[in-house]
This record gives sequence, C-alpha cells and structure tokens, in this order.
Amino acid sequence: MTGGAKRMEGLDAWKVQDLVYRVEGAETGHFITFDPDRCDGCGACALVCAASLWSVPEGMDKARLSSRYRGNCLECAACYAVCERDAIDYRYPNGGSGIVIRHG
Ligand code: SF4
Ligand code: SF4
Repeated sequence: MTGGAKRMEGLDAWKVQDLVYRVEGAETGHFITFDPDRCDGCGACALVCAASLWSVPEGMDKARLSSRYRGNCLECAACYAVCERDAIDYRYPNGGSGIVIRHG
C-alpha cells in the first residue's frame, strides 16, 4: 500500500459520500475503463480517489478498480486526470443516472 493510500484510510469515507445522492433505479453503464497494459502501478489514482475505489495490491504493479465503482464513484474524474500513462478513461454516466451533489 502506498503512503498516500494509508493516509486515505484516516478519512471518514461516509462523510464524503454524504455530500451526494444517487439517482435511484437509473443504470449508469460502465463509465470508467482501465487498460492494465498501460498501467505501471504508480498508485496516483489510489492516492487521489476520495472514494477509495482504486488500489495497487501489495506486490502488484497494476492498479485495480473496485467492482463497486458504479455505485460509489463521486464522478470527480481525478483518477483520469492524474494518470500519466493514459491507462484510465472516464466519461460521465448515462444521462439521468449517477450522482447529484448536495448543496451544489
Ligand atoms: S495512475 Fe494510471 S499508471 Fe498509475 S497506478 Fe493508476 S492506472 Fe496505473
Ligand atoms: S472519478 Fe473520482 S471518485 Fe470516481 S473512481 Fe475516479 S477518482 Fe475515484
């Protein structure tokens, strides 16, 4: 685990998730794609993901995206923005699905 990932453990993830609500019954589709052949395991995606959906397992040189990402992603695209290897592609979920930011 990277130092950054250790720091993320200290955050109360439920407080981050409480800033949004999810549209019920609307299918997001797959809106993040990951190309492991491009990934070098740098861990930047895991460092920036406030929902802790990315990780680089101990002893591995590839990132892993949680299979639960469609129900927990905050749609910030930070993982896409920081990946210098272009291993992550991001688009918004299907129209009418995904999150709405509270107080936004
Ligand atoms: S930021 Fe990109 S290259 Fe680095 S671990 Fe994540 S997916 Fe792999
Ligand atoms: S878009 Fe944001 S919340 Fe979703 S997986 Fe990427 S960094 Fe995490």
